Amino acid sequence: RPHSTGFIGLGRMGSEMAYNLFSKTFANKPDSRFVICDAVPEAATAFQNNFIAAFPGAHVDIAATPDEAAIASQTIVTMLPSSAQVRTVYSSIIPALRSLHPDDKQHSVCIDSTTLDVSVAQEVAKEVITTGVRMVDAPVSGGVTGAKAGTLAFLVGGTAEDFKAVEPTLALMGQRIVHCGPSGAGLGAKICNNLILGVQQIVVAEAMILGQNLGLDPAVLSSVIGSSTGNCWSLSVNNPVPHALGPEKSPPCERDYEGGFATALMEKDMGLASDIATKTGTRLPLGDAALELYAKMIKERPELGKKDFSSVYDCPPPPGHF
Ligand code: NAD
Repeated sequence: RPHSTGFIGLGRMGSEMAYNLFSKTFANKPDSRFVICDAVPEAATAFQNNFIAAFPGAHVDIAATPDEAAIASQTIVTMLPSSAQVRTVYSSIIPALRSLHPDDKQHSVCIDSTTLDVSVAQEVAKEVITTGVRMVDAPVSGGVTGAKAGTLAFLVGGTAEDFKAVEPTLALMGQRIVHCGPSGAGLGAKICNNLILGVQQIVVAEAMILGQNLGLDPAVLSSVIGSSTGNCWSLSVNNPVPHALGPEKSPPCERDYEGGFATALMEKDMGLASDIATKTGTRLPLGDAALELYAKMIKERPELGKKDFSSVYDCPPPPGHF
C-alpha cells in the first residue's frame, strides 16, 4: 500500500486537526495519499476542496464508509462526537482491519481522539488490537483554537510501544504529547480535565455577572482577574462576555457563541465524569451541579446545545441562581 493517512470525523476539531496532519505530511512526502470520511458528505467535500485549493496536487479521496478509509490507510485518526459513534465507526473498521495482509497490519495504527466512555474505548481498542493492528486513545485538550494552531495536548492511553509508534503523527497536530498509561488512561485524564473546565466556565460566568451587578466594567474585571489568582482558560481565552478581552482575542462570544466547544458536548463530558465517579465511588458535588445546569440549559434553550458552552453566561436563569 502507498503511504496513506485517513481521518474520520471532520467536525469543528477534526477538520482543523486533519488540515495540520495532512499539510505537514504532504510537505515531507508529496506523494502521500489522504482519505477522509464523515457522516455528513458536505463536511468531507468542503474539506477536500479547501485542502486541494491550498495544496494543489495533493491526493485527498473521500471514502463513502469508514471501512473503505481504514483499508486505504496505514494511520487512521478518528474524531467523533462520543461513544455511540465510535462504536458504529469501529464496527465498520474492525472487519476491514481483520482482512488486511499481516505485513500491512504490522504497519497500521488507529488513533481515536474522541472524548468517550473509558470502558467503551477500552473494549474497542481490545478488539482492534486482536486484529493485529495497534490502537491508542488520544483525546485532546486545547479546543478549536489549539486544533487550528497545531498546539493541542494529546493525552495518550496505550502500551509504551504504541505510544512510540503514534508520537510522531500526533506531534504534527499538537505540542504536548503525554503518555498517561495503558489503554483508557488518556481518556481518564481528559475526563478529569473537563470536569474542571465545565465547572470553571460556570463560575467565571457567575463572577462576571456579579462584577457587573457591582458596577464593574467586564473588560477591567477580566484584566484584573487575568493577572490574579482567579485566572483560568475560561476567563483569559474563552471569556463569555463580548468585548471583555482585547481586540486581538476572538472567543466564541464575539460570534454569538458560534464555533468552539458545543454545550451538548460539555454536557456529555460532565456525564462521562459522573458515570466514572459512580463506578469508582467518588463524590463530585460541583460536577453534579454543573451537569444539572448544562442539562437544564439545553432543555430550556435547545439552540444553545450547539453553541459554545460559554453561552452559559447568556442563559436565563442567570447561573448565579441555579
Ligand atoms: P463535531 O460535532 O463538530 O464533529 C464531529 C464530526 O463527526 C461531525 O463532522 C460528524 O458529522 C462526524 N460524525 C458523526 N458520526 C459519524 C459517523 N458515524 N461516521 C463518520 N463521521 C461521523 O464535534 P467536535 O467539536 O469536533 O468534537 C469532536 C470530539 O472532540 C468530541 O468527543 C469532543 O468532546 C472532543 N473535543 C472537542 C473540543 C472542542 O473544543 N470542540 C475540544 C476537545 C475535545
